Amino acid sequence: MSLEDIRNRIHKAERAAGREEGSVTLIAVSKVQPNERVEAVLEMGHRCFGENRVQEAAGKWPQFRERFQGIDLHLIGPLQTNKTRQAFDLFQTIHSVDRPKLASTIARIAQEEGHCPDIFLQVNTGEEDQKAGVLPADADKFINDCKGMDLPVRGLMCIPPVDEEPSLHFALLAKIAERNGLQGLSMGMSGDFEEAIALGATHVRVGSAIFGARDYG
Ligand SMILES: *Cc1c(COP(=O)(O)O)cnc(C)c1O
Repeated sequence: MSLEDIRNRIHKAERAAGREEGSVTLIAVSKVQPNERVEAVLEMGHRCFGENRVQEAAGKWPQFRERFQGIDLHLIGPLQTNKTRQAFDLFQTIHSVDRPKLASTIARIAQEEGHCPDIFLQVNTGEEDQKAGVLPADADKFINDCKGMDLPVRGLMCIPPVDEEPSLHFALLAKIAERNGLQGLSMGMSGDFEEAIALGATHVRVGSAIFGARDYG
């Protein structure tokens, strides 16, 4: 396992960017990984993980929570409105709030439950048809609407197009966050987390570089 390598590379990128060491949160993306690999990372003391499906997370994290204290779980994939309540039970943070209907469902359930996960709003910086997120041109209004619903909006999230220079997308996301007074930036994956940190990432989502390749078999 190269958890230690990734931590070291994150610290180096933080220093290079003139940022405080430890200021970036490492979300270990455990989707599709066999339980033994996830368990090995838990045994090393890591507690912050990301999953992209509610169903998959529900099938593996309750058991881990019985055995390991302080697990901090992040939903980084698409959320269907009918799974929102289940997501509240599993996740401390939702990174993929990408449309008004989901935002208003979260707001209603937060009222009913008396608590709400931290929220990141997803921006489709590459304006790709197949990708979730609000368009950059609609982001300011969406951010304002979500704040108006009293959602705990911590920041923005993006997944750059695979065939483009990610830095341009990271810079765009940082600019939108800054003009809206948001601190959190969920950006950067195995191949580009150092560039993301240079551009202000507060949360990096790293899967295969920690656990190895995913076997979708
Ligand atoms: C799978 C996934 C990641 C992690 O990807 P790696 O390339 O394995 O680091 C990060 N973010 C999201 C939204 C993902 O779905």
